[in-house]
Amino acid sequence: MLEAEIGKLRSELPPNVKLVAVSKFHPFEMIVRAYEAGQRTFAESRPQELRKKVMELEELKRTKGEDFMKDVEWHFIGHLQTNKLKMVLPYVSLVQSVDSVRLLDAIQDWCQANGKTVSVLLEMHVASEESKQGLTDEEIINVLDATVKGAYGSIRFCGLMGMATYTDEKDVIRGDFGRIHRLYEKIISGYPSLPSFGILSMGMSGDYEIAIENGSNMVRIGSRIFGPRN
Ligand SMILES: *Cc1c(COP(=O)(O)O)cnc(C)c1O
Repeated sequence: MLEAEIGKLRSELPPNVKLVAVSKFHPFEMIVRAYEAGQRTFAESRPQELRKKVMELEELKRTKGEDFMKDVEWHFIGHLQTNKLKMVLPYVSLVQSVDSVRLLDAIQDWCQANGKTVSVLLEMHVASEESKQGLTDEEIINVLDATVKGAYGSIRFCGLMGMATYTDEKDVIRGDFGRIHRLYEKIISGYPSLPSFGILSMGMSGDYEIAIENGSNMVRIGSRIFGPRN
């Protein structure tokens, strides 16, 4: 029961840790149920799917009224291609998965063209698998140095996101989260002119407890709430 899982997570998570429900691959009806159980923030990983769910909500508002699910918030957590920005940026309050400088540049250009500001997390590459996307420590520092000098004026840098290596070895997971946490702390103390930088998004269904032990203040939980994905 997703209502019971949400309740359990909410009572279990420390008060400073924000729960993001990862609803990807699950139908919109389950998002409505989770909302009714008190969940407000949902994350999607594919542009088409995000937009479809946003449209389903719009549709539902026609019968339920404009205020229905008024305070729902969407985050984007998947790989975002630069030609898909318009399917995502108008709808989300946070892009957690900025995984390349090229993407960041494209978001800045989109914001300028549309008179918008977008909040982002920089996704740090840490897991050892080849497939994992993300920015290196050096790229992250370079981006923030450029920001302090006036670049990326339309982007609000809100923190870091990272995923640990997919393994059962707790020490490896701890090591990965520890590395992200150290860079996060270094940024907090080294860039006081970035006051919005305060989110450390780490931890999924299988490893969120270890992530919280290592400083996470935002967990992205999917299967534990919604069950397995097909
Ligand atoms: C799918 C996904 C999650 C949620 O994974 P679960 O193991 O189902 O909790 C979290 N973060 C990202 C980036 C994801 O793509």
